[in-house]
This record gives sequence, structure tokens and C-alpha cells, in this order.
Amino acid sequence: MQVLRFAPSPNGWLHLGHAYSALFAFEMAKRLGGRFLLRIEDIDIGRCRPEYEQAIYEDLRWLGLDWEEPVRRQSEHFAEYERYLKRLRDMGLVYPCFATRKEIQDAIAASGIPPRNWPTDPDGAPLYPGIYKDIPRDKLSRHMWEGRTYAWRLDMEKAKAEAERLNGGPIAFTEEGKSTRGDAGALPIEPELFGDVVIARKDVPTSYHLSVTVDDALQGVTLVTRGQDLFPATYIHRILQVLLGFPEPRYHHHGLIRDEAGRRLSKSARDMGLRELRAAGETPASIRRMVGL
Ligand code: GLU
Repeated sequence: MQVLRFAPSPNGWLHLGHAYSALFAFEMAKRLGGRFLLRIEDIDIGRCRPEYEQAIYEDLRWLGLDWEEPVRRQSEHFAEYERYLKRLRDMGLVYPCFATRKEIQDAIAASGIPPRNWPTDPDGAPLYPGIYKDIPRDKLSRHMWEGRTYAWRLDMEKAKAEAERLNGGPIAFTEEGKSTRGDAGALPIEPELFGDVVIARKDVPTSYHLSVTVDDALQGVTLVTRGQDLFPATYIHRILQVLLGFPEPRYHHHGLIRDEAGRRLSKSARDMGLRELRAAGETPASIRRMVGL
């Protein structure tokens, strides 16, 4: 039985792009005779709000979706994510990183490489310059004693080597939609494009990457559908799946809904908000037509 999911973050109102993504997964689950899950990705306790979460339920019901109960809310599972983080720690693949944004900027400025030439990850963030990687033990324990907060970063080079060893060779994944380059099928992963990515943030014992990987595995998701903006993140999710011994889902990254000027919709795209569209007289049927479903 196929299991699909829609996994929004309640840190804003849903817009047309979310409606497309939710309907895409829901319709595909129906076509495959599979199950459809809704998951609330609310690890960002500073930005997520209960009214946004309530609006997700309301807007999706209005669109005609239904889903299995209970809904998994990530904020109720921090202890579980922490367990998997510990596994990565025991494998020696993550390290504590005390760096502030400012320290990272300063390190890049001090590198002699003009900041605009500094390599960025597929999301456009500068690659981590490696401060706090391999720092001597006494320095590490001093920072800890001083009570400085830290994130956990994946040592990508080590992690990739270990994952390939466990996998018995290079790691790929099955793309049923389209990559950002337009190809599909068995695609190789390139997690090194992200450098030493944060696996657990300073404020919560997890990250988007860790919790999405853990949840898709624990919920038995067999086909991950989501927007193409998350295509490169799949490199990180696959490496985590291999390291943590999780099964491999298939992936279908779909195109993004754009506004009239061809820009990607963002949370601030108010005119494309489902609530505004509903207030302006749009119906579930007209919304489906607008997103081409
Ligand atoms: N929670 C993520 C978002 O709102 C999507 C997660 C996923 O589908 O993998 O963008």
C-alpha cells in the first residue's frame, strides 16, 4: 500500500502553492489506492503559531481533502528526533558548532575570498567555513562549561563515506517527477553541495532535515511528493536514511506555482493566499483549475 503525505509548516497562511502541493499528494494517493497523511512540521517554535495550524486544517477541509487522524505534529516528538541525533553522534558523524551568524560572516571575510565568490549551498546559504570543526577537546569543553549554545553539524565528508560503505557503493534515489535539471529516474546524490549542514539547531534538538527523514520513515511514507524547491534537500535525506537504516521512499518533485510575474509564491504573497481567494469568491473547483488539477 502506497503512503503519501503533505507536510506544511504552520508559520504562515497557506497560499496557492500549498493548495497545489496538498491536492497533488491527495489525488496521487487516491489514484494509487494509497493512504494520505497530513503532518504538521512545527519544530520552529518561534515562528509557528496555533492560528496558522488551525487555518491549515480549515483551508484543506474547504478544498475537499481528508486525512488520517491523529495528525503527527513534530513538536510533540523532540525526544524521538534526539534519539536519532544521538545515533549519529555515536557514529562520530556530527560535531557541536557554537558559531553565530556573525562569526560565520567574519570567518568568510577573513578568508581572503570575496564574499560574493564564497561558495553557497543549493538554497543560497554560504557554505560553513569549518570553524569549530576538529577543535581541541579542552577548547570544546571550555565552550560547553561557559554554557555557550551549539548546533550539531553533519561532517559531510565522513558521513558520505560511511553511508557509501553501508550502502555498498554510491547512493542514488528514484525521482518520478523531475529534478531541477529536468531529469528523472535513478539520480545520484550530491550532499557535498550543502557542506556540513546543521542536523540539530541551537534551539531545538532537530532540524527540518532530521525530522522530515525520521517522520517519513516512522510513518511508512513510500512516495514523497513535494515542490522542486526541495529537490536538493533529498540528497541530505537520502544520506540520513542510509546512515539511520531507514527504508528508501520514492520521490516525485513537482513544479512550483508562480505568480503572474513568474516569481515563486512566498508566504508573503498575500494575493495568492487561500483565505483571500476564498473571500474573493473563489471556490474549491476554481482553485483546482487555477493550479491545473
Ligand atoms: N515542511 C516543509 C515546507 O513547508 C515541507 C516538507 C517536505 O515536504 O519535505 O516547506
